[in-house]
Amino acid sequence: DTRIQRIASSIRVVPDFPKKGIMFQDITTLLLDPKAFKDTVDLFVEQYTGRGISVVAGVEARGFIFGPPIALAIGAKFVPLRKPRKLPGEVISENYILEYGSDCLEMHVGAVQPGERALVVDDLIATGGTLCAAISLLERAGAEVLECACVIELPELKGRGRLNGKPLYVLVESH
Ligand code: 5GP
Repeated sequence: DTRIQRIASSIRVVPDFPKKGIMFQDITTLLLDPKAFKDTVDLFVEQYTGRGISVVAGVEARGFIFGPPIALAIGAKFVPLRKPRKLPGEVISENYILEYGSDCLEMHVGAVQPGERALVVDDLIATGGTLCAAISLLERAGAEVLECACVIELPELKGRGRLNGKPLYVLVESH
C-alpha cells in the first residue's frame, strides 16, 4: 500500500531521546505532511466505519491527535484518557508499570455508559502497559473494547500480548 509507505517514511527516528539508547519514533513529522496525516486517519476510518463503535478513547497526549478525527468521521464520541490530576470532574484511575517507575491514566466518571462499544487510539505501542491500562478503565466503566489502534508498533517489545486478547491494528512496524 503506497499510503502505508508514505506514512512510514514520514515518521522521524530520533536516536537517544528522551534518554540514551532509545530510538524515539517522532510522529510530529508525519503531521507536517498533510497527505500522510490524512492517509493515516483515512486508513483507521476505513477499518472502523460500520462496526457500531460509539466511543473513541484517546491516550494523552498523542492519542489526542489521531483519535478525534477518527471519532468525527465514524460518528463516535471522543473520550480523553488523561495523566493524573488533569481532569476536573470525578475520575476513575488505573496505575501501570513503566520501564522505570509507574504512571497512571484517568477517565471521567460518566463519560462512557455500560454496554458502549469502544476503540482505544494511541500513536505507538511499546510494552503495551499504556493500552492495557486504557482497556481496564473502559471495561471498569462497563464498555466493551473492540480493538486498539496505533500508528506504530515496536514488535520486539511484545506489547500486543499484554492486551488481554484484544485485537491490535497498526499501520507501521518499527524494528
Ligand atoms: P508502552 O506503554 O506501550 O510501553 O508505551 C507506549 C506509550 O509511550 C504511548 O503512549 C506512546 O505515546 C509513548 N511512547 C513510547 N515510546 C515512544 C516513541 O518512540 N515514540 C512515541 N511517539 N511515543 C512513544
